[in-house]
Amino acid sequence: MLDTLKEKTGLKVQENVPLKNLTTIHIGGNARYFIEARDVHELLAVAKTVVELGVKFFILGGGSNLIISDSGFEGVVIKNESGDMSIESNEVMVDSGIKLPVLIRKLAELDMGGLEFLCGIPGTLGGAVVNNAGAFGDSISNHIKSVTILDHKGEVRIVLKNDLQFGYRSSIFKQISEHEKRGIILRVRLILRKGAREEIARKINNYLRLRADQPKGLSCGSYFKNPKIELIEKEWEQVVKDGRIPAGYLLEQINAKGRRDGAVFVSPKHANWIINKGKGKAEEVKRLAESLKAEVDRRFGIQLEEEVEYIGFD
Ligand SMILES: Cc1cc2nc3c(=O)[nH]c(=O)nc-3n(C[C@H](O)[C@H](O)[C@H](O)COP(=O)(O)OP(=O)(O)OC[C@H]3O[C@@H](n4cnc5c(N)ncnc54)[C@H](O)[C@@H]3O)c2cc1C
Repeated sequence: MLDTLKEKTGLKVQENVPLKNLTTIHIGGNARYFIEARDVHELLAVAKTVVELGVKFFILGGGSNLIISDSGFEGVVIKNESGDMSIESNEVMVDSGIKLPVLIRKLAELDMGGLEFLCGIPGTLGGAVVNNAGAFGDSISNHIKSVTILDHKGEVRIVLKNDLQFGYRSSIFKQISEHEKRGIILRVRLILRKGAREEIARKINNYLRLRADQPKGLSCGSYFKNPKIELIEKEWEQVVKDGRIPAGYLLEQINAKGRRDGAVFVSPKHANWIINKGKGKAEEVKRLAESLKAEVDRRFGIQLEEEVEYIGFD
């Protein structure tokens, strides 16, 4: 396999590469095969190869929404480092591997705004599309025109926003559990606004100030999605927004803050953040998450669903 991957991609292929430091929670075993795509042409070459060979793979962006198993991933991990962009009027075509803070800064330098609400999120544009990343009442789907993907049949296609089935922290990509059937996002066409640089900088600073209050430490940010509820209890009226109750609120009611399993614990500051003290294991995170889910279900009859994705647990 190693030689085939090398030959077909023309790129460096490494074996048994530790993944934990490539995730924000610093947890996870090794990738059996690891290939870094430094631009969109390399990403396409690797993507075509893995699709053609029919091997197990996943794209690793910023690793900020992933819990990778302690035994690692028995397939090809494609680390997406692509990051070029081109501007056509108020539309920008951006490679999927660009880090969100870098993208927002580069756009600001060009007097283009609209994505400031995403600053402070340590992921890539591709990961943000998959998760329909959002904050402060806005989400990336509101700014997307289309994405260019390599589909699971090996064809490059442009998919318009309306066909991407965006929802709360969800997209067509996330709804398909097998990574091999999802398609690989190569580029994203964003619709942005021309704006005054000072005004954009002011917004960025504002959002960063609001984020400064978030828990510190190794994490994936919010662990569970805010569940949709049909029946709103009287005492929930103040916290329910758009038919969703904050997972953090429910977890607080079961006194989850500070709960621990081995070297991972629930942030004492925010009940929906699971933090790794440093030597945490995926097994501990998963067990802690399962116990929190079970308790919320017992107490409220509400099933929490992970916002993070599990990799390599099958
Ligand atoms: C401190 C902190 C704060 C956060 N705040 C927020 C927040 O406010 N709002 C929010 O929505 N999220 C937040 N997150 C979660 C996370 O950062 C986002 O979901 C982010 O968009 C994930 O991007 P990523 O590149 O890290 O994806 P990864 O974690 O690397 O991957 C996530 C999924 O996307 C897939 N993927 C990535 N790139 C591609 C591609 N090019 N093609 C196909 N599939 C791809 C991966 O295979 C995987 O399935 C936060 C996380 C942290 C650690």
